[in-house]
Amino acid sequence: MTEGGTAPAPVAGRNLIAGEWIESVSGRAFESRNPADRDDLVGVFQAGSAADVAMAVRAAEMAYPAWRAVPAPKRGEVLLRYAGLLRRDKERLARALTREMGKVIAEARGDVQEAIDIAELMAGEGRRMFGDTVPSELPDKWAMSIRQPIGVAGIITPWNFPMAIPAWKTMPALVAGNTVVFKPASDTPWCATILVELMAEAGFPPGVVNLVTGSGAEVGDAIVDSPDVPVISFTGSTTTGKRIAERAGRRLKRVALELGGKNAIVVLADADLDLAADGIVWSAFGTTGQRCTACSRVIVEAAVVGPLMEKLERRVRALRLGDGLLADTDVGPLINETAAAKVEEYVEIGRREGELVCGGSRATGGALDRGVFFEPTVFAGVAPMARIAQEEIFGPVLSIIPVADYDAAVTAVNHTRYGLSSSIFTRDVNVAFRAMRDFETGIVYVNAGTIGAETHLPFGGWKETGNGHREAGHAALETYTEWKSVYVDFSGRLQRAQIDNQPG
Ligand code: NAP
Repeated sequence: MTEGGTAPAPVAGRNLIAGEWIESVSGRAFESRNPADRDDLVGVFQAGSAADVAMAVRAAEMAYPAWRAVPAPKRGEVLLRYAGLLRRDKERLARALTREMGKVIAEARGDVQEAIDIAELMAGEGRRMFGDTVPSELPDKWAMSIRQPIGVAGIITPWNFPMAIPAWKTMPALVAGNTVVFKPASDTPWCATILVELMAEAGFPPGVVNLVTGSGAEVGDAIVDSPDVPVISFTGSTTTGKRIAERAGRRLKRVALELGGKNAIVVLADADLDLAADGIVWSAFGTTGQRCTACSRVIVEAAVVGPLMEKLERRVRALRLGDGLLADTDVGPLINETAAAKVEEYVEIGRREGELVCGGSRATGGALDRGVFFEPTVFAGVAPMARIAQEEIFGPVLSIIPVADYDAAVTAVNHTRYGLSSSIFTRDVNVAFRAMRDFETGIVYVNAGTIGAETHLPFGGWKETGNGHREAGHAALETYTEWKSVYVDFSGRLQRAQIDNQPG
């Protein structure tokens, strides 16, 4: 550990199947290391295989009839207990998260808080889970719709929100009465293990939640291909999401995809430029630019490019890189060397497509040499269709795109394959409302950055950011429930809809 103390002993991770913490039948394992200090071995985890997935799916199937029979409000009580345990252990979880994934501790606390928020929200869904009760067109007949669980939910998550995203998926799945097979990202198996340990403590019965760690190619594919997993919820890259959708489509599975983004902040000439600069820096370099909602494009009215750049550059140059557990760190490491190589590649492309204002290199020297650090990087004078303005880099790289006016800004915002988050800084309420209407994204912010979604509204994106599903809010239940329409005829006679009640 890099906080000046002695490194704790590495965790010996296990899979959780049918309530038992067990080793993989593969006999193989993989390491998880601290990206701020690659010498710090967080733990060794099971390299799961298709055989482990088969066992986990079987366990989830066995647990399903009893769990779905638990009244939803009682299932909600287990979620509420879980939220309480997350709250009790929030600091421990946040520190583990920073150590394994790298984001600064304040953001790690926010990640855990999102998990708490969704657990509490979904606990309440146990007492709502609304359907419709509507009048029948026939006398003495009742008509209503109810939600029912689907079965075993396969949940596959990325590393960038290693506590929030698994909670965003498991909580609605579980309160709705499904059981779960959960495969976390291979960069954050410890975070997943802690989350699942607390689920067991909260009282989810054995087999209701099963954890299998291991690679996407082995564990992920096995979950997606399993005929006994009717619903898949996936968050990750658009490339992987498309692949999953194709495979799952062969079995007509329900697949909810939350994928990549290329999120823009628009700054108009009348904006509060200090506020805009603060919002841009937070959105672009928070989580080292590794948020699906991270801002990677600033689309700015030409009249204020100069003053905005001056404010931005000053703020970006002041950011301090380091171990996220240290109090004075603003920006943590990238997740791994593959991510750093990708950022380096795009920076080289950026040098040809724009003017490098600051950053542009690996950050080294002292303790930084032990981790995977990259300087916060800004390119100015970037064209809307440049590659660095179109492709998801998923790192601390920001493109400044000058435009003539609001209409050109809208065109630039919308001209990408993604559609997750967007924002506009302006003092003109009319223009703000136009942006809320015009931006083709699932989330729009006014006078705030592109990050900061709350759990009680739907979360997700348009276009290649997903396939129309939403997480969080009531909308999350759509992924994990089937609708059933129920008609009760208490007339005691045959009544024919659309026939007996027609004139003539
Ligand atoms: P990724 O490489 O697509 O991996 C995501 C998850 O999928 C990991 O658990 C990964 O396992 C697994 N996986 C990989 N190949 C698979 C396969 N063939 N079948 C099944 N599962 C497979 O994405 P990432 O690099 O972890 O995450 C970054 C991406 O996630 C970015 O594009 C970001 O925008 C997106 N993201 C989107 C949202 C959103 O809500 N829209 C939120 C957060 C992140 P391994 O780790 O073992 O490879």
